[in-house]
Amino acid sequence: MTTVPLAILGGEPKFQSPVHVGRPNIPDRERLLARFSEVLDRRWLTNDGPLVREFERRIREFVGVKHCIAMCNGTVALEIAIRALELKGEVIVPSFTFVATAHSLQWQQITPVFVDIAAQGHNLDPAQIERHITPRTTGILATHVWGRSCPIDALQEIADRRGLKLMFDAAHAFGCSYRGQMIGGFGNAEVFSFHATKFVNSAEGGAVVTNDDQLAHRIRLMRNFGFVGYDQVEYVGTNGKMSELSAAMGLTSFEAIDDIIAVNRRHYETYRRSLATLPGIELETYPDHERFNYQYVVAEVSPDVSPLSRDELIAVLHAENVLARRYFSPGCHRHEPYRTQAPATGWQLPQTERVCERVLVLPTGTGITTAEIEQIIDILRTALQHAGEVRHALSTA
Ligand SMILES: *Cc1c(COP(=O)(O)O)cnc(C)c1O
Repeated sequence: MTTVPLAILGGEPKFQSPVHVGRPNIPDRERLLARFSEVLDRRWLTNDGPLVREFERRIREFVGVKHCIAMCNGTVALEIAIRALELKGEVIVPSFTFVATAHSLQWQQITPVFVDIAAQGHNLDPAQIERHITPRTTGILATHVWGRSCPIDALQEIADRRGLKLMFDAAHAFGCSYRGQMIGGFGNAEVFSFHATKFVNSAEGGAVVTNDDQLAHRIRLMRNFGFVGYDQVEYVGTNGKMSELSAAMGLTSFEAIDDIIAVNRRHYETYRRSLATLPGIELETYPDHERFNYQYVVAEVSPDVSPLSRDELIAVLHAENVLARRYFSPGCHRHEPYRTQAPATGWQLPQTERVCERVLVLPTGTGITTAEIEQIIDILRTALQHAGEVRHALSTA
């Protein structure tokens, strides 16, 4: 029997119940239940109800954008925005993103063309885009990964010069800014997700934000089957509506953002101080001079410095009931149908491949305490100090 206190070496798990990445931030219960009650009393559960409108207004004001169209989720918001912008043929996307970014194109017979991320920062590299533009290319759809903004000016310059539409998957970036201006107002349109795991959540939800009046009008019609009046349809549409119950959750969550950021930031600093003492695990840094939500604690594990690989560390943490995650690993281009559709993409994406192998996302948010984070770091430290035994246990498991 080992004396090293690690579950992977036969010890008891440090956590009785699992600690997840993306555990939802639960907002003020009294306020939420009061809003639910209000919805039930009104018997207005969906179809452009007063809470959805209030949620849209709050987002519009916060982001400083002309239009916000709330949706049932971020993926449908992406699909509708893509359709309303009349993208077709091919669209440039990163592979290092959640698979919904690519699926929202493929779902409507548009081919996502995967372009590599920059060596720093995990976002689409503008310098790689132009050689992937063909006569079929109609747009660029870039993700603000972890809430860190893309190089928006460089992307806009390419889009303008090459006559392309520019859209952003801003699912991670609600509450974040670029050069002092809130993300949401850039390109032709941006899309937020308010999924349970996101910074602001409505359980399921999303929104398209834009400054384009006509685009916003088309998106509103598409969200509601193309209805322009009580019984008149002018457009092919779908059902992308957000319910009043989701809006109640979204509004209550939105009211808590300052508290959530304070907790996220404190957790980030706790990780930063302690991880600095561990070899080969480097925390991603975030812009000090911008507004930021600190929703993701992301480390890169260097295979040549760390005594244990990223996947070995994840196995150690999972044995302790700490459900840390690899993110966007493998990259979209390695998932179906993209792997079969463009099998040679991999060698063109060296930075994506490198980052997919290294990223380790750690638990944060209001569902975890500072003491628990210190325990997680202790686990990592102990595992690294006993790397030989850990590796042996994993290879014989
Ligand atoms: C969460 C997420 C989505 C999808 O949003 P849903 O609301 O879950 O449909 C899309 N893109 C990225 C980058 C995401 O993180």
